[in-house]
Amino acid sequence: MKMRFNTEDAFAQRIEHSIQENVSLATYNTFRFDYSAEYFAIAESIDSLKVLLAWAKHFQKRVTMIGGGSNLLISADVSGLVIINRLSGINAREHAGNLVSLTVAAGEDWHKIVEYAVAQRWYGIENLALIPGTTGAAPVQNIGAYGVEIKDVLARVQVINRNTGDVYWINGRDCGFAYRDSYFKGQWNDLLLITSVELSLKKQSELLLSYGGLSERIEGKPNIQAVFDTVCRVRSEKLPDPAVLANSGSFFKNPIVSKIQHDELKECFPNLVSFPFEGGFKLAAGWLIDQAGWKGKQYQGVGVYEKQALVLVNHSETKATTLLELEAQIKQSVFDKYGVHLEREPVQLPLGMEILK
Ligand SMILES: Cc1cc2nc3c(=O)[nH]c(=O)nc-3n(C[C@H](O)[C@H](O)[C@H](O)COP(=O)(O)OP(=O)(O)OC[C@H]3O[C@@H](n4cnc5c(N)ncnc54)[C@H](O)[C@@H]3O)c2cc1C
Repeated sequence: MKMRFNTEDAFAQRIEHSIQENVSLATYNTFRFDYSAEYFAIAESIDSLKVLLAWAKHFQKRVTMIGGGSNLLISADVSGLVIINRLSGINAREHAGNLVSLTVAAGEDWHKIVEYAVAQRWYGIENLALIPGTTGAAPVQNIGAYGVEIKDVLARVQVINRNTGDVYWINGRDCGFAYRDSYFKGQWNDLLLITSVELSLKKQSELLLSYGGLSERIEGKPNIQAVFDTVCRVRSEKLPDPAVLANSGSFFKNPIVSKIQHDELKECFPNLVSFPFEGGFKLAAGWLIDQAGWKGKQYQGVGVYEKQALVLVNHSETKATTLLELEAQIKQSVFDKYGVHLEREPVQLPLGMEILK
């Protein structure tokens, strides 16, 4: 039976009526695991989001927001209310100098925003092309590729407080951004949802070509469009398209180790792929997994992608059990070989299941 909270407001009634029960999330996560949401709704505006949050508060239901579901590992039914973010709209303000402020609603497709900025010749996010998902989820793990992270261009983030429904802006520098991390993934996880982001882009800027072999791969004269095209081409060659083969991109973060541990490893494994990072070193997790013999391996209906060992793929499973088993085997073998712990990148749902990490 549908739960209703007492409201005379016609808009609130309509939003409340749109809440469905026991809905499969299989098409709302790129691993395509088939678990259900106890309650399910799609938010298309901040006002509808406010009504949904008030409903959840009234009935003491936990709220989980999903954007594109491309950084999720759903491994059980999700109790409470799952809200799919479809807030839309973009607004650009060109300032007198070199700056453009691009404000984007959280439900907009990230890659389309990159495409749009590149078409206007606004610099700053061209290296972040073809990353799936919504713009609102991009700051959650501080998306990054080819030497750029969203924190580099993020002026501020508009949020809604889950408890009070208040909407306000937070400066990018106050969001606790780090490598694939932010306060939205941690201490703000139960408090704030992102409703909009404001990017600071530039009308003139240097291109960043020094990462991932971009400068060698670029065809013709390097300009913003050529960078975008090259990033799209290289990514399409080495990463599986989730619409064709279910996956959530990199399944593990690149581990960060001390200089001492790095030097010891380098002595045993002279070909170790690593980069200096904040006083220590970042190791290429894909290399560690590949060298441990996992690339292209299949385990029941899941496996390790044949062209990139960092990516786990789902060929045919409807539940996450075998993927979790494969993950545990990879972690163990990498630890046995290198003494390095791998950490998972995608967020496990329902929240609170991190014990299975
Ligand atoms: C093929 C492929 C390639 C990828 N490549 C990269 C890459 O190069 N770099 C990179 O960094 N990532 C990469 N990813 C991961 C993923 O695309 C990004 O993390 C993306 O930002 C996730 O967006 P989403 O809308 O799908 O988020 P979802 O998977 O829906 O959600 C991810 C997390 O964010 C939370 N969340 C979602 N929306 C909001 C919101 N509005 N407010 C608060 N919390 C929210 C969710 O609750 C969840 O905890 C890749 C994934 C795939 C499948």
